[in-house]
Amino acid sequence: MKIHEYQGKEILRHYGVAVPRGIACFNVEEAVKAAETLGGPVWVVKAQIHAGGRGKGGGVKLAKSINDVRSLASEILGMQLVTHQTGPEGQKVRRLLIEEGADIQKELYLAVVTDRVSQKVCIMGSSEGGMDIEHVAETQPEKIHKTFVDPLTGCTDAQIDELALAIGVPVTSLDQARQAIKGLYQAFWETDASLAEINPLILTGDGKVIALDAKWNFDSNALFRHPEILELRDLDEEDPAEIEASKFDLAYIQLDGNIGCLVNGAGLAMATMDTIKLFGGEPANFLDVGGGATTEKVTEAFKIMLSNPKVEAILVNIFGGIMRCDVIAEGVVSASKAVGLKVPLVVRMKGTNEDLGKKILADSGLPIISANTMGEAAEKVVAAAR
Ligand code: ADP
Ligand code: MG
Repeated sequence: MKIHEYQGKEILRHYGVAVPRGIACFNVEEAVKAAETLGGPVWVVKAQIHAGGRGKGGGVKLAKSINDVRSLASEILGMQLVTHQTGPEGQKVRRLLIEEGADIQKELYLAVVTDRVSQKVCIMGSSEGGMDIEHVAETQPEKIHKTFVDPLTGCTDAQIDELALAIGVPVTSLDQARQAIKGLYQAFWETDASLAEINPLILTGDGKVIALDAKWNFDSNALFRHPEILELRDLDEEDPAEIEASKFDLAYIQLDGNIGCLVNGAGLAMATMDTIKLFGGEPANFLDVGGGATTEKVTEAFKIMLSNPKVEAILVNIFGGIMRCDVIAEGVVSASKAVGLKVPLVVRMKGTNEDLGKKILADSGLPIISANTMGEAAEKVVAAAR
């Protein structure tokens, strides 16, 4: 789960990481009031959306008067902000952060992420802040410094100092940098985050170390123990089909292709998408109905899949292990009838009660195309979608 910058900065503040004073707003009047409350001489008007690259897209602007704040707020609020992370359609701006302007002397990069290879938490820093870090990693990998935290000792002062000095923090600001890095690590650890990124972390003219941006991702599987974080969820920023799917405990991710996939098990779902691509098709979604799918769940899954207007054919690929093929077959038949299915449907099922399942499909009178292997199923669905 993601949150907004202003919410992320609240977390940072709570953990002792210095952030600029700022106020979140939902309309222009609130923005003007916020600017008056903060006091000048310089403010920054920042679009709040769950995507980075807002600055380049025109969503972060400097204001030198209250009038500037008013006109920039009305310009940015409601705009369809396009960044390299939003896709070409962009994201509508519904919230703003009005913040005091900081005196930037140097922009650094700091992040904490889970590193799957070492199975440790990695603290990552760079002297090249304010830029797209993927670009830095590609063109100047030597400028990215990493340190891995031993879960038994936590991150040590020596480790933190080494990182801070490597990314160009002057000795006179070391205390402040230490506090920022420690605070970020602590916050990451205690909130079950999967990513906590400050880009840029700045050095100011008077030697302060301040977080100017805050990006957070939280592990959805741990949200049950963080109601305070779940409260920060902004459904406006999420895909409506994915929200609907999460209500039924379905794992659904919308993609760009035209072949809808309904599969049980995440691994099989990934393999199914790969097989579709192998035969020249493009999946329209990832959808894992899970181990204990019921007729109701399969019906909902069909509805969600079909709410995507790009879908031109559907592939149901089921392995009947814990799940029985006849239950799935009944679900497929009743769902197809309930939604008045109009696109071709290819079904491949293997495993427990396979024969019974196939009989239910054949007897249903629905124009279901059946297949025996994954390759055959993919080939048939790709042909059907053309
Ligand atoms: P994004 O990463 O989405 O583009 P940032 O919050 O990093 O958004 O802002 C982009 C740039 O705008 C920063 O790199 C920084 O140069 C500038 N900026 C952001 N906030 C402030 C601020 N409070 N004062 C001065 N400059 C700022
Ligand atoms: Mg940034």
